[in-house]
Parts: sequence; C-alpha cells; structure tokens
Amino acid sequence: MITESSMKSFRASLGGQSFCPVDAGYDQARKIPNAMIDRHPAIIARCTGPADVIACVRFAREHDLVLAVRGGGHSVAGKSVCEGGLVIDLSAMKGIRVDPGRRTVRAQTGLTLGEFDRETQAFGLATTQGVVSTVGIAGLTLGGGWGHLHAKYGLAIDNLISADIVTAEGNLLTASAAENEDLFWGIRGGSGNFGVVTSLEYRLHPVGSVLAGGLFWPTAKAKEVLHFWREFAESSPDELVTQGTALTLPGVGPVFGIVACYAGSISSGEEVLKPLRSFGAPIADSIAEMSYAQLQTMLNPFFPPGRHTYVKSNFVRDFSDAAIDAAVEYVGRSPSPYTFAPFFEHWHGAATRIGSADTAFPHRQHSWNFFAWSTWEEASESERNIRWTRECWQAMRPFLVAGSYSNYVSDEGEAVAREAYGPNYDHLSALKAKYDPTNFFHMNHNVQPRATSARISA
Ligand SMILES: Cc1cc2nc3c(=O)[nH]c(=O)nc-3n(C[C@H](O)[C@H](O)[C@H](O)COP(=O)(O)OP(=O)(O)OC[C@H]3O[C@@H](n4cnc5c(N)ncnc54)[C@H](O)[C@@H]3O)c2cc1C
Repeated sequence: MITESSMKSFRASLGGQSFCPVDAGYDQARKIPNAMIDRHPAIIARCTGPADVIACVRFAREHDLVLAVRGGGHSVAGKSVCEGGLVIDLSAMKGIRVDPGRRTVRAQTGLTLGEFDRETQAFGLATTQGVVSTVGIAGLTLGGGWGHLHAKYGLAIDNLISADIVTAEGNLLTASAAENEDLFWGIRGGSGNFGVVTSLEYRLHPVGSVLAGGLFWPTAKAKEVLHFWREFAESSPDELVTQGTALTLPGVGPVFGIVACYAGSISSGEEVLKPLRSFGAPIADSIAEMSYAQLQTMLNPFFPPGRHTYVKSNFVRDFSDAAIDAAVEYVGRSPSPYTFAPFFEHWHGAATRIGSADTAFPHRQHSWNFFAWSTWEEASESERNIRWTRECWQAMRPFLVAGSYSNYVSDEGEAVAREAYGPNYDHLSALKAKYDPTNFFHMNHNVQPRATSARISA
C-alpha cells in the first residue's frame, strides 16, 4: 500500500517528470509501439539520470512494486511496461559523448539508434546497432544487438567496453572487463535481468558511406531466389550483411525482398553484389551508395508505431532444400500486408567467431535466424494473424533449433527464456542469485535466481 504522502514525496524527490493515471500525459507515457500491449502502471518515472533511477529502485522495493524498465520501448513482448507498479522510463536520458581520438562513445540508455548514430557519424564513426533507428540502444544491446555491421565488427555487445548499472540493492556499479567482470559477462546477452543500465560505453569504428538497399522479386521466384541467396551468402565477406523476407511492397503487392549492406569500398561492394543483383531479373533494385545514417533509417517506414506485433523466431539448424520448400509455402500468404514472413537473417563473420560462452548471448554458431514477424492494424485481426504466425513457424520448426534470440521473442515464460539463453542459462541463473536473489528485475525474458555453488565468475 502506498500512502498519498509517500507517493507525493517520492515524486517530489525525482529530477524528472512522473505520471500517475490522473495526470495529463499519462496515456501517452504508458504507450509503447506494439499496440498489443495496453498496460496501466501505477506510476511512470521519466528519469533524468542515475539518481532518479536509484530512487525508483529503492521506492519500488520498499513498496513491493512490480518494476518495468523502458529504454526505447520496442520489446515485442511488451516487457517495458507493467500492469500496476512502477515504470522506469529512460527516454529522457540522452547524454552521449564521443571520444574520436580513442574511438569510443559513452551513451545514456534513453537514446534511440538514430540519435546514437547521428552523434557517432558526426565523427565518421559507428558501431553495430540494429536496422531500425527508432529502436532503443539499451534493450537492443543488452539482448545482443544484430545489425548491418555485425559481420565486420561483431554484435553490439561485442563492442561494449563498460556499463553503469543500478542493482537491485539500489547501488550503482560499473561492469567491464576489469570491474565486476561476472556482471559484465551477464549483461552482454542477459537483457535487463541484473539491473537498470544507465549508460553504455562502446568501441567505435570508421564507417563512411555504404553500398546498400533492397532487391525485390515476384513471389513466384521466391524459391529460386532463396536457393541462390543461400549459396551466395555462404561466401559473403565480413563487409556484407544480407537479410531476406516475404513482404508486401506498397503500390506493388507481395514480393520477396533482400536487403543488403556492404560496409567497405564501394567499388568492391559493386563487384561482390553483382551476382545477387543480376540474379533472376529483380523487379526493383534500390541498392546505391548512401551514408550509414541514411541506411539506418531506410527501413523505418515499414515499422510505424501503433500496429499490433507478434513474432516467432528461432535459429535455423538445417537450411536445406526441404526448409526452403516449407518456407516458400508461406510466401505471399500472410493475412496482413504489413507482415514480414518468412524472414531470414544471415549471421556470419565477426559475431560468429566469438565463443558461445564468452558472453551471455550464446547463439554464435548458426548462420541463419528465422522469424515470422507479423504486424497488423486492428485488434479484431489479432487472432487470425497470431494463428497464421504460429502456423508458419510450426511449418519451419523441423528445420529450427530450440534456441532463439531473446530480442525477437513475443512469447513468455521459463521455457522460452531457457531456449533464449540456451547453454548459458545455468551460469546466468547463478549470477542472478548473486546480483538479484529476489528476482526483483523480472519484467524481461526472465532468468530465475538459483542458489548454487556453480562458479559464477566469467
Ligand atoms: C521495429 C523493430 C526492429 C528491430 N530491429 C532489430 C535489429 O535490427 N537488430 C536487433 O538485434 N534487434 C532488433 N529488434 C529487437 C530489439 O532489439 C528489441 O525489441 C529490444 O528489446 C528493443 O530495445 P528497446 O530499448 O527499444 O526496448 P524496451 O522495450 O525499452 O526494452 C526491452 C527490454 O530490455 C529491458 N531494458 C531496456 N532498457 C534497459 C536498461 N537500460 N537497463 C536494463 N534493462 C533494460 C526492458 O526492461 C525490456 O525487458 C527490433 C525490434 C523492433 C520492434
């Protein structure tokens, strides 16, 4: 039970704005991009820095409140907003400082990818983040962070140098290779299980213009395109990252598309991409030299906020001819024109040369990640779209491993979390027992704390 006076003095103690249900702005503040999620927190605290975050953690603990942490709000499972309880909203924490000499950046965790890229690109630098610029750097990084630069420079977590994190006890710790190394291991893939990360420090790399864009074929050619792309991708250099999906192009209709980014010399990129661009007479080819920042916003129009989203995803065990046959059955069949499925991401290069136990993110050995990413407009269409998404995933299931990338998972529960953290689950569970033994941070793909004698240092 929170008394009115304790709520009042808590709110007055914050540097940032806060919203209760009676306040103007509350409804806007509780909204996240996935319209499937409609929750009503008791209070939303828009923190201005670590002091506010510490105050929130202590207040939530004292009053036994459920706590959710919102970075960019894009969790497809809706983990950044809770029913009742307290939301720590980091969206006002946008401090960022690039050190061009050392090629590093320290960034607060309310930044979106676009805001982050803008600052680093001012110095001709970048590091791996995702491919839609409205997503938050925090949730994306803590889960792993796949993007156009992953094959050249590793996942977002592979570029992390350190993180500041407020623990369940309300203490601010720094985690790095030299300090709290076990925690540093855990946050690189263990999502928000260990605390509220208030800033992230990354290594940066010189990234100038890139050769990038989309290639689109009629759905009737999806099978031959998938066969060709599978072989083509196998010999991709680290500079090249590709992803492909069935989708509906506005004004055109259902197609199969591949998005490519070559982050190297433009002339080499032209050579490398030639076979893909000339295969099967694509109906559209938007591949061109562009700035990295331009590339990072290129897919934004496909992901407006306010649509319903449901995702099923697992890594591919066997991208065989039979898997392609199964996928092709679902090309152009989605009930919604906004859905991306069947969808494949090609994972290779630097991200896959790191050991599965070197960070909490374990899925380094797979070349392909499959997902059915469904989005639609009306709540009344939810049942049909969710059913179709599950059917598509079910048809692919014989070719998939149990393991999944937690950032692409809508479903919840212990089984889902165990699959996402895979062989690293037990290690994470022991670490959880050390840093969050009461499972205070559980609005995430949750790791249960386990009292254990297992070695918990990385
Ligand atoms: C349109 C779209 C495109 C995407 N593209 C990519 C992509 O290219 N590559 C990729 O890897 N992923 C991608 N994703 C998945 C994305 O990485 C996850 O949805 C991620 O969780 C989003 O992070 P966020 O900060 O926006 O989300 P939030 O919903 O705010 O957070 C997600 C999770 O992280 C926790 N969290 C957030 N901030 C903190 C913090 N500071 N401290 C502790 N815990 C925190 C939250 O509590 C929640 O559990 C995409 C998602 C969407 C919706």
